[in-house]
Amino acid sequence: MAKSSFEYVKTFELDDTLLPNTWVVVRLDGKCFHKFSEDHNFTKPNDLRALKLMNYAAFTVFREFNDLLMAFGQSDEYSFVFKKHCTLYKRRAAKLVTTITSKFSASYVFYWNKFFKEEQLKYPPSFDGRIVLYPSEENLIDYMKWRQADVHINNLYNTTFWTLVKEGKLSPTQAEKRLCGTVSGDKNEILFKEFNINYNDEPEIFKRGTLLLKKHINMNESIKCISVIVDVHDDMLKEKFWKDHKNLLFMKSKQNFIYDGPITEI
Ligand code: ATP
Ligand code: ATP
Ligand code: MG
Ligand code: MG
Ligand code: MG
Ligand code: MG
Repeated sequence: MAKSSFEYVKTFELDDTLLPNTWVVVRLDGKCFHKFSEDHNFTKPNDLRALKLMNYAAFTVFREFNDLLMAFGQSDEYSFVFKKHCTLYKRRAAKLVTTITSKFSASYVFYWNKFFKEEQLKYPPSFDGRIVLYPSEENLIDYMKWRQADVHINNLYNTTFWTLVKEGKLSPTQAEKRLCGTVSGDKNEILFKEFNINYNDEPEIFKRGTLLLKKHINMNESIKCISVIVDVHDDMLKEKFWKDHKNLLFMKSKQNFIYDGPITEI
């Protein structure tokens, strides 16, 4: 087909091919979810419906892309880690980040009612997305640790803050003042001494976020190996986790069997 005289505009497009042989991490984050969560009556500090919807939207993304190794989510964010040698979309950054982010956003809306039931979605939410490349195993593991440490810091603060507000009858400003300059030991003590709450007993999903992984399971009656997506709340800050999951960063793609949702590991 003959080229039109307009075709030259295509040359204005810039190349955004990502560096090869590096782990590609796509992290998305909800826009103004502080407000969105209030507008939709999220339970504070942790709305389980919202967390489950995030996990389900991430599961929807995860099962579509064979090159994904794992995904980690907390609050209004999710990180998706692609295998090192991923060549999806010829490693074009914009293609990768927009496809993942829009699939996630669309799934969040599409499955809203499955988790929020009678709580109506009032307006379309949006998520921003970014890509970061990690060249070494150590860097990638530190990335995962960084995001999980963030869950812990935020959740301890939020749990103490909301306990002071809801049970301690402090105003948000008073609670904020009370927590100003406190370290984690102080917060644990406030919870335990004043409210008889042992922070360790809080649900793992609140304290550690959710990691989605592929597990290969050998079927009993045949030699067939299937892979399933599981959601775990393990402590990634411990070296044991990475020892137990040595192959995680180097997993080979396998055909996924589609389930109705992540299989919760007990
Ligand atoms: P930005 O657009 O810059 O990301 P934001 O308002 O989304 O702004 P974040 O730092 O991303 O700010 O924080 C997300 C906020 O969403 C949390 O601080 C919390 O108020 C709310 N939120 C997210 N998930 C939940 C949840 N499961 N339960 C309760 N609140 C939540
Ligand atoms: P890719 O993922 O590479 O974009 P694609 O299948 O989306 O693949 P496009 O070149 O974007 O390919 O073309 C979009 C296709 O979607 C059209 O060729 C057409 O078949 C279909 N399509 C889009 N909009 C309409 C419409 N309004 N009515 C009928 N068909 C449509
Ligand atoms: Mg942000
Ligand atoms: Mg946000
Ligand atoms: Mg956030
Ligand atoms: Mg198209």
